[in-house]
Amino acid sequence: MLDALSERLGRTFSRLRSGGRITEAQLDEALREVRVALLEADVHFQVVRDFISHVRERALGREVLRSLTPGQQVVGIVHEELTALLGGDAQELLSAETTPSVYLLAGSKGSGKTTLAARLGLHLARRGERPLLVAADFERVAAVEQLRALGESADLPVYAGQRETPAAEIGARALEEAKRSGATAVVVDTRGAVDLDDDLADELIDLADATDPTEVLIVVDAMTGQSAVELAREFHDVLEGTGIVVTKVDSDTRGGAVLSVRAVTGLPVKFITTGERLEALEPFHPERFASRVLGMGDVVTLVERAKEAVGERDAKAVAQRVASGEFDLQDFLNQMQSLKQMGSMAGLLEMMPGMSGMAGQFDDHELTRSEAIIRSMTPEERRRPQILNGSRRRRVAAGSGTTPADVNRLLNQFAKAKKLLQAMTGGGRGGGSALRELLRMQ
Ligand code: GDP
Ligand code: MG
Repeated sequence: MLDALSERLGRTFSRLRSGGRITEAQLDEALREVRVALLEADVHFQVVRDFISHVRERALGREVLRSLTPGQQVVGIVHEELTALLGGDAQELLSAETTPSVYLLAGSKGSGKTTLAARLGLHLARRGERPLLVAADFERVAAVEQLRALGESADLPVYAGQRETPAAEIGARALEEAKRSGATAVVVDTRGAVDLDDDLADELIDLADATDPTEVLIVVDAMTGQSAVELAREFHDVLEGTGIVVTKVDSDTRGGAVLSVRAVTGLPVKFITTGERLEALEPFHPERFASRVLGMGDVVTLVERAKEAVGERDAKAVAQRVASGEFDLQDFLNQMQSLKQMGSMAGLLEMMPGMSGMAGQFDDHELTRSEAIIRSMTPEERRRPQILNGSRRRRVAAGSGTTPADVNRLLNQFAKAKKLLQAMTGGGRGGGSALRELLRMQ
């Protein structure tokens, strides 16, 4: 996620931090690098210009350069300015005073609206709402089926009207259905287009009139950069958006969309999505996101995700098994599955302070391979890995489509993980603050 930008900024700042005093010329040199990095990340040039001039002004104005730790202070200013650029305080999703709340999703074709409808539904359901998903996109026959399938996997009801019915009418009927069935939140998926033409604009305006949305969320595809931001502004002009969702932030995107959409549209980013899985929806926190971009990690989000994936009771049970030395390969397998639920390994590392540089070294296939290996073991072998002699290891390798060397590697990893976990539960020696945070919940 925003790897190239993160890396460039990281390099610039570590140089700035390493020296003692900074001259104005050195500051300007560093800011020039920041400017180029932002432009290369496809951030709007006007946004970049304002950003750099704010940072420069503050760095020169506050006697920063003459302080003992000028580098750190400049990085601090960049962090604050980046947070401000991303919108300052996090903006929560609004809910209506009288139910149901209505969320209308609008954006270009392929930006991720239909997927988002299911994700938002799931997010709301986890907060105790009773969501109804509404398919108002009839252009593609498959669109309704797609939402139905997503609704099924998220265990959420889907309302779809007849083909040829105007979107506004579907919206009105869906609201009646929501009231009848006691739904408290309605998420409306809409048709997208490559451009916002008059037809689509009229259709969406009618739909909004018919459903009186609590929020009009404009969906921006991070992969398409500046043009997506421009399109978001057009959608906002027509529909009066209330918030932005930036999708595909996980992809190899340069990041410009996330960084400039707030400044260009004036609308708060409410969520980002970071993967293909339904759970890959994150409420957007400008400050935490700025930390991630600057390679400072995002421990708070990491811990939230861990809690969600593992559940507090399970975490306690595991901690006990570790402490008593009973932690075995079956536990290891369970842990791997929770880890997978939390998202990709690379994504997780990015959130750990100082670890973002390692993100590229991890591949999730390794996790899948390890799982396959443990699954090929008998329950007894999982409980007592020491009984895995040569012939058993060969059998496990054959059963999991791996090699005996892979099995050995996994067993070594397990032994190391077990030792590390024991050391950590035993007194909190070693481990960064992220690990300590994670442990606090156990
Ligand atoms: P729509 O045309 O706006 O409804 O877009 P869809 O919801 O059908 O999504 C288009 C494609 O983008 C699908 O293949 C999704 O799986 C994919 N997609 C959506 N969100 C994300 C994301 O956050 N990350 C990645 N990698 N893919 C996504
Ligand atoms: Mg769609």
